[in-house]
Amino acid sequence: MLQKSELGEEPQICVCPHCKYQGYSFVERDPGCCIFLMCTGCVCMGCVAGCCLMPCVVTDFKDVTHYCVNCGLKIGTHPIFFC
Ligand SMILES: [Zn+2]
Repeated sequence: MLQKSELGEEPQICVCPHCKYQGYSFVERDPGCCIFLMCTGCVCMGCVAGCCLMPCVVTDFKDVTHYCVNCGLKIGTHPIFFC
């Protein structure tokens, strides 16, 4: 797996560690641990009427996972925050 410093938030040229394919990755945004913490924090503050789910729909707060376009396997993750 590649480290955070090597992966950004956008598709980029990298070498797949699985099939050695070199080319652009494709990215998907996944709710990371910071989403969980933010939702938990909202619940603790009394925002249980739905707004606690707000962080879950804001893509800027989601981890970016890079996948190989050749074999489709995960290349690495760019976490928004380290938890
Ligand atoms: Zn690959």
